[in-house]
Amino acid sequence: MKKIPVLFRKKEECCGCTACYAACPVGAIAMTEDEEGFLYPEINTEKCICCKKCLRVCPMKVSEQSMNRTGKGSSYEV
Ligand code: SF4
Ligand code: SF4
Repeated sequence: MKKIPVLFRKKEECCGCTACYAACPVGAIAMTEDEEGFLYPEINTEKCICCKKCLRVCPMKVSEQSMNRTGKGSSYEV
């Protein structure tokens, strides 16, 4: 079974920057508008090849990962 990445669990975990959308090599990500007009990425599970590029470019994940690594926050945080 394919392991489709989870780009965000809550809307606060995504700033709608479209980096994942731009990075996907197979065009599996679409930016869709929510009821308030904010754009959020949606992965087409049929197209996704599970390369995880989208997770690697996500600025929200980068700060999460460095926090986990160092245990004391990250230089990317504002
Ligand atoms: S894992 Fe790869 S193929 Fe799948 S949505 Fe992310 S960038 Fe696209
Ligand atoms: S790269 Fe991350 S923050 Fe940017 S749109 Fe994709 S999931 Fe949201």
